[in-house]
Amino acid sequence: MFCLRIGLIDIPSVPFVQPKYFERLNRLKCELEDVWAETKGASVINYTKKTFSIGLLTLSTYLKTNIKGIKIDYCNYLDLNKINSNIKKYDYIGITAKSPFLSIVLNIAKNIKKSNPNIKVVIGGSGPTNDPKTYLKSKFVDFVVLEEGEISFLKLLTSKPLSKINGIGYKQKDRIVINKSITYLGNERIPTSDYSLFDDDLNNYNINITYMRGCLYNCAFCAKFQGPIRFRKTTDIIAELKFLNKHLLPNTPIHFSDNIICIDVNRFVKLMNAIIKSNLNNLYFVCDLRANHTTPEIVRKLDEANFKLINLGVEDCNDSVLHKNNKQLSYSQMKEAMQIIRDNSNALIGVYWMIALPGTTNKTINQNLNEIKRLILTKQVDFILPSLFKPYPGSAISNNPKKYGIKMVNSWDEWLLNYYLPLWTSNQFNVTDLSNLNKKYLKVIIDTYKERCTKKYVKDVSFKNTIGL
Ligand code: SF4
Repeated sequence: MFCLRIGLIDIPSVPFVQPKYFERLNRLKCELEDVWAETKGASVINYTKKTFSIGLLTLSTYLKTNIKGIKIDYCNYLDLNKINSNIKKYDYIGITAKSPFLSIVLNIAKNIKKSNPNIKVVIGGSGPTNDPKTYLKSKFVDFVVLEEGEISFLKLLTSKPLSKINGIGYKQKDRIVINKSITYLGNERIPTSDYSLFDDDLNNYNINITYMRGCLYNCAFCAKFQGPIRFRKTTDIIAELKFLNKHLLPNTPIHFSDNIICIDVNRFVKLMNAIIKSNLNNLYFVCDLRANHTTPEIVRKLDEANFKLINLGVEDCNDSVLHKNNKQLSYSQMKEAMQIIRDNSNALIGVYWMIALPGTTNKTINQNLNEIKRLILTKQVDFILPSLFKPYPGSAISNNPKKYGIKMVNSWDEWLLNYYLPLWTSNQFNVTDLSNLNKKYLKVIIDTYKERCTKKYVKDVSFKNTIGL
């Protein structure tokens, strides 16, 4: 019997090259956060663990459910031994790629085709979704899959006429054809991750799971492409959590990496009650909330279900900057949400903070730095998670940089060689200004963490390494 055999190559992130100075700052920040988190029996993300793309693992489940006998191998792109040693046996290789990793993907595709020209190479993820033609121009790429991969990939494998498959791109003689309309999975049809793809211990991975796909909002800096709102079945999530509880060591964090986990309150409460009843003693949970969906009822449920870290997307404390970037929230709503979490749970609070979003001025920078210090020292939040704004392909800002007053000056390939390299400039800030700003935020956060720490905590952290920062 003919069995389809495919290899999946995951590029969830790359080991970013950091200049020594930033590496030291970041290490110190993580150490301080870890020591602080321990006070609540939690830990911050373990950067030594591996990551994976949930989309590849759900794709595997979907294909195995729908194609009898299909064999699927999985590799992280940093260790392609398994795929390389079976390269003659595969019919298809699927690679998932975020936009910044274009050159890495094309290089892998080239090596695959050189080893076995008969393999069909299919690329999915945000990269080809945003710019399918650039991928298809490579002679080493046969197909791209746009947005959600499950249905389109299945149809590709089951030989439907290409013109009838939604959400793919392919070549027809000298022409590139892109079928732009997408067929999304229905509500409660999102598959569970196929952890059997991993050859090694699950404890080697940072575990992220999803509860839903889709988002109601349109933040200008976000490159989301998740289609309409759809939820997973509560019973599927509980079965996945029970499996993880059985295989993971005690006190392992599971990150619900959803945008708006509590958008449907009834469904959310049902899930939390099911988690509470399931006695998942080895696990604790982490989630991201949006301020306008943060209520005492929701936070109490999260607390009851053992969510030890709740992150809020704040981005900036200046309302005109938030407005310019279409955040659709005011800073007073964010502060109210922080207070609701503090008053109704024991969870640690982290806030995502974006440095130099469009609309930023020297005045708003000072306002932000002062607010960050205040939030840490008054213990209103536990962690600040800053990142220099990057115009990700597919975001409204990247699609119309002029409107937002920025100009790309460095490429994503250059950024792969220096994670802290600013990619853009504006009338207000040049590359050096932005790089200094990044350092300044990190230093202010670290100094304020130190000020917050009591001696008991400070002694555990290697401050000696920071002399001269
Ligand atoms: S940042 Fe979050 S809330 Fe805003 S559009 Fe993206 S996913 Fe939605």
